[in-house]
Amino acid sequence: MKYIVVTGGVLSGLGKGVAVASIGRILKDRGYKVAPLKIDGYVNVDPGTMNPYEHGEVYVLDDGSETDLDLGHYERFLNENLTGASNITTGSVYKTVIDKERKGEYLGKTVQIIPHITDEIKDRIKRFNSGKTDVDIVLIEVGGTVGDMENRIFIEALRQMKREKGNEMLFIHLSYVPVILSGEQKTKPTQHSVKELLALGIQPDIILGRCEEPLTESTKKKIALFCGLNPYDVLSNADLPDIYLLPIELTKQDLGGIIIKKLGLESRPPYTFKWDHLVEKIMKAKKEVNIGIIGKYTGLEDAYLSIKESLKHAGAANGCIVNNIFIESETASAKDYKNLDGMIVPGGFGGRGVEGKIKAITYARENGLPFLGICLGFQLAVVEYARNVCGLKNANTTETDEKTPYPVIDLIPEQKDVHSKGGTMRLGSFPCKIKKDSIAHKLYESEIVDERHRHRWEVNPDYIQILEKNGLLFSGVYEQRNLMELAEIPSHPYFIATQAHPEFKSRLENPAPLFSGLVKAALKQRRKMASE
Ligand code: GLN
Repeated sequence: MKYIVVTGGVLSGLGKGVAVASIGRILKDRGYKVAPLKIDGYVNVDPGTMNPYEHGEVYVLDDGSETDLDLGHYERFLNENLTGASNITTGSVYKTVIDKERKGEYLGKTVQIIPHITDEIKDRIKRFNSGKTDVDIVLIEVGGTVGDMENRIFIEALRQMKREKGNEMLFIHLSYVPVILSGEQKTKPTQHSVKELLALGIQPDIILGRCEEPLTESTKKKIALFCGLNPYDVLSNADLPDIYLLPIELTKQDLGGIIIKKLGLESRPPYTFKWDHLVEKIMKAKKEVNIGIIGKYTGLEDAYLSIKESLKHAGAANGCIVNNIFIESETASAKDYKNLDGMIVPGGFGGRGVEGKIKAITYARENGLPFLGICLGFQLAVVEYARNVCGLKNANTTETDEKTPYPVIDLIPEQKDVHSKGGTMRLGSFPCKIKKDSIAHKLYESEIVDERHRHRWEVNPDYIQILEKNGLLFSGVYEQRNLMELAEIPSHPYFIATQAHPEFKSRLENPAPLFSGLVKAALKQRRKMASE
């Protein structure tokens, strides 16, 4: 087993997750089995209890783990499903060590950061195989920036591991190279962050210079000289029109070849160009559609990262560019929807913005605007239908209004008894049985589908009959528990909502059917509008 560690320098938010995902893709396309692992320095056991404004969306895996959004990049670039073992946090490491201490597993000993915490980190990394046999390379991303107090202990554990593993372990440092007003590329911040890394006992083997433009030869030489590398081990990670171009760009600079050589891996036939072909579909698209995303975390687009990516995949499948129009649900009104060809009401928690979302759904339903409701968006589509079609005045979800006369969305009994917040939602993949002759059946082309979930509230079974009698079709059910999974309006051009989060399984190679359907319907809507 070989190890690649990617650290970040100077600034956060440089796109380290995308760089790691790209490295993974490059190695996978060379025939290596890659297992990606994200390390986060925060004390939360997982990001599940965090507001999306903290670290962007919480990304959910098949096994129900709530993880960092970088795992979404890994899954999408590698086109593989990961498990919760791919995300380590300070909180989860300390929790294991403290639980062991309470059980008496260190009896008689003083439990210390070094060696007990560092040993637990090393053990996890060494045990880690992403559920696969014969992993060739574990690809580790250290979250944050070198020099942060938060990730120091992880870097120490990795330093110790490097002593054991020698040439089997490689350090790649992604650092920022600013371009100042004079047009000059400045290397000093990178020099300083490498010094920081050296002070922690780590010499990087490769540097990726994150810059708005490609690094010049003289920049590369300078970084190499000051940071103890060969100039050809300093690569450009320049701004690109799309993140999916990065594996192609890094391949042009032979990153795969450099890594393979340094790790002493056998040289396998290079890059297959399958990825290029897929990315070309995004880059060559000519048509356009506008999809409105009506949410309450619109100030941070990363809160809807997987939805954005899913729309891009759906666009590629339909040969069009999707313009994402983020609309704040609290302040939205009908005029904001005029230029839309389709609408998404995404997931969310709590009451803020709910009424605005319900109004947006009314607009989509009444105006034949293609609509996709996701999780909370599904629940609110049911609320909207109950209120405005079934005449159940003030119907609501009890998440927003505990005293509603018509609790069409409610907690199921076992959720009512749950008092802890971490990891207690309906989480992960559940099978959904799809009714024949529904929109969902046409889109999924299957009777049983698995999508990932992350929610507490459900459609209240007491109201299914009245909703269906009034024309809402529950086209998908989790049969084992009789929980409603999909709702649609057969008389509408495209109105479908899902209790699940199909955005977590969408890939460039396999666009999520509900998103492809939305974009297809939006294109149709646009043509209709143009001809009117
Ligand atoms: N807040 C809702 C629930 O918990 C919906 C969650 C979501 O949209 N992910 O059921």
